[in-house]
Amino acid sequence: MFEGLSEKLQATFKRLRGKGKLTEADVTEALREVRIALLEADVNFKVVKELIARIKERSVGQEVLESLTPGQHVIKIVHEEIIRLMGGSESKISISSKPPTIIMLVGLQGAGKTTHGAKLANMLKKQGKHPLLVACDIYRPAAIKQLEVLGEQIKVPVFSLGQENPVKIASESLVFSRKNGNDVVIIDTAGRLHINEELMDELSRIKGNVKPHEILLVVDAMTGQDAVNAADAFHQQLGLDGVILSKLDGDTRGGAALSVKAVTGCPIKFAGTGEKMDALEVFHPDRIASRILG
Ligand code: GDP
Repeated sequence: MFEGLSEKLQATFKRLRGKGKLTEADVTEALREVRIALLEADVNFKVVKELIARIKERSVGQEVLESLTPGQHVIKIVHEEIIRLMGGSESKISISSKPPTIIMLVGLQGAGKTTHGAKLANMLKKQGKHPLLVACDIYRPAAIKQLEVLGEQIKVPVFSLGQENPVKIASESLVFSRKNGNDVVIIDTAGRLHINEELMDELSRIKGNVKPHEILLVVDAMTGQDAVNAADAFHQQLGLDGVILSKLDGDTRGGAALSVKAVTGCPIKFAGTGEKMDALEVFHPDRIASRILG
């Protein structure tokens, strides 16, 4: 993951470490390389501009340039600022003091919503919770079946009413969860190929009806800025609590991981790292930064 970006940044850092003293021009040149590497990784250009300005401001002071290891110092600043860009520390999901905690998953078709609903249920189950998966994606052929197969695999019940109205399915699932002791309800909603009014309208109605504690958007990391734009649009229409970044295992660039929080204000809460049910990680900005920067 992030191979392309990582390689370029490490080459720049190697040159920085190799120099004894650093001048302001050396820092400017190194930051120019960092800027290009980030843009090539499909990080949002405005985010890159602000990031580089912040790093530069902190790097060209006397304290850094006259330190014993100025190169190391600049690298540390880059590291810290990249962590900050992704939100600093991890963002947890809010668990309601009055069960069930209701989590609504939204996203475009193919982003990995259904898979991640099941992965999240699996993670929560391992933490001692009793999740219920709810099949509200009634339009995509085989989506209900897919959720049922995954539920079976991880031994988590799936609530479905076939092609019923999704708002009704969602609200009936809450009644079911209370009767059956499910303390987390994960609602898999419908996706479309593009964001459209009809989709948003249905999602808003489900939101208004079940009042979820968490609305999480699943976006495909490999789509870079398209993922960021989707996050922006969904956030404006629905008010997201966080993002699940799927398919990070196939992402050589890192543009979405580095831009989502800075552009939308929404933290990435989880990352999907494969097709298997245990391929879900809590998104730790510091660990991701270390993977990128080496
Ligand atoms: P949905 O339309 O948003 O519900 O998407 P699905 O959950 O059906 O996922 C679409 C495809 O992406 C499936 O083939 C999944 O196996 C695959 N997929 C989902 N998440 C990941 C991931 O984190 N890594 C990889 N490599 N594949 C994933």
